[in-house]
Amino acid sequence: MKKRIAILGSTGSIGTQTLEVIEGNPDAFEVEVLTANNNVDLLIRQAKKFQPNAVVIGNAEKYREVSEALKNEPIKVYAGTDSLNQVVQMETIDLIITAMVGYSGLIPTWHAVNAGKNIALANKETLVVAGELITRLAKEKQVDLLPVDSEHSAIFQCLTGEIANPVEKIYLTCSGGPFRGKTMEELQDVTVEDALAHPNWDMGPKITIDSATLMNKGFEAIEARWLFGLPSSKIEVVVHPQSVIHSMVQFEDGSIKAQLGLPDMRLPIQYALGFPYRIKNNFPRFNFLDYPELNFSQPDTKNFRNLALAFKAMDAGGNIPCILNAANEVAVQAFLERKIKFLQIPDIIEQTIDGVSFVEKPSMDDLIQTNTETRKKAQLLTENRK
Ligand code: MN
Repeated sequence: MKKRIAILGSTGSIGTQTLEVIEGNPDAFEVEVLTANNNVDLLIRQAKKFQPNAVVIGNAEKYREVSEALKNEPIKVYAGTDSLNQVVQMETIDLIITAMVGYSGLIPTWHAVNAGKNIALANKETLVVAGELITRLAKEKQVDLLPVDSEHSAIFQCLTGEIANPVEKIYLTCSGGPFRGKTMEELQDVTVEDALAHPNWDMGPKITIDSATLMNKGFEAIEARWLFGLPSSKIEVVVHPQSVIHSMVQFEDGSIKAQLGLPDMRLPIQYALGFPYRIKNNFPRFNFLDYPELNFSQPDTKNFRNLALAFKAMDAGGNIPCILNAANEVAVQAFLERKIKFLQIPDIIEQTIDGVSFVEKPSMDDLIQTNTETRKKAQLLTENRK
């Protein structure tokens, strides 16, 4: 039996690489659903090639364009957020890979888990915003949350066969991004182009900026907290510029397991899709002689304040990580639009957190409201910065 896969966000970096993995394993997987927000041309091409049962275009204004292009295909076409929330519940889906950008991943993932669908989680913001609610629901519905993020896939792989053994600590490795080692002064005038040039990973613009500010690593710490049920005191970030060790687990006897490989997202994607089986492939192999040195150092949380803010938000709990995420999305967008400078990103996040009221045990509705309120506040702050 082939696994029938739904890809939420099929036109993005993770989405297209997921299709590569599926294309390479036609006996193991088939595409059941493809969804995209705006990229109509690519969605249409993907639909024609992979012949899913259904496609969803998020932006409802583009419905006609998609349905017109696919009118001679046996593919159902839907549009809008509500359709997305319904399609994820389709009987014929075995596994959903959530590869949308940012907060937009939360509600569809919630509906999917509620419908008992296994999730390959490629949208870390879902757990940043609502980790407690999502992981609790997943447990209740006996749903697998399989990590796609390379660090979490590494930890997940290290934990295989260790069910009875408590974790003493996990080490989340961090490349340090394009600005590793820069002083505050040097960071003052870095440009959008500088920030988008990540040394090791080829990713979408939002996550690439998050990698440059180290917010991505902060989000990953929160993601790990929920995926693996660990307190922040057991999560340590270590800078490792080569991005060869994807993360590590230290057990109570002091032994450390690490997972290594080339920085290639197709590996964690394929592991999540094929789990619990590893699938043979012909991706480029790691060569130790190409990496005579592996280096490690402490992250610089003074100049890259987002990482410290994320740990603070994780410890504060409640709706604070939701505020952190929403403020970050607004600030990153403003930076990409050249409305604010790089170092103003943490300023805006910090001021927004101070300005939104704390909810200790938020419901999903509380989080939705927090998200809306935070965006308004953060937006005002970015505008007052000009
Ligand atoms: Mn990652």
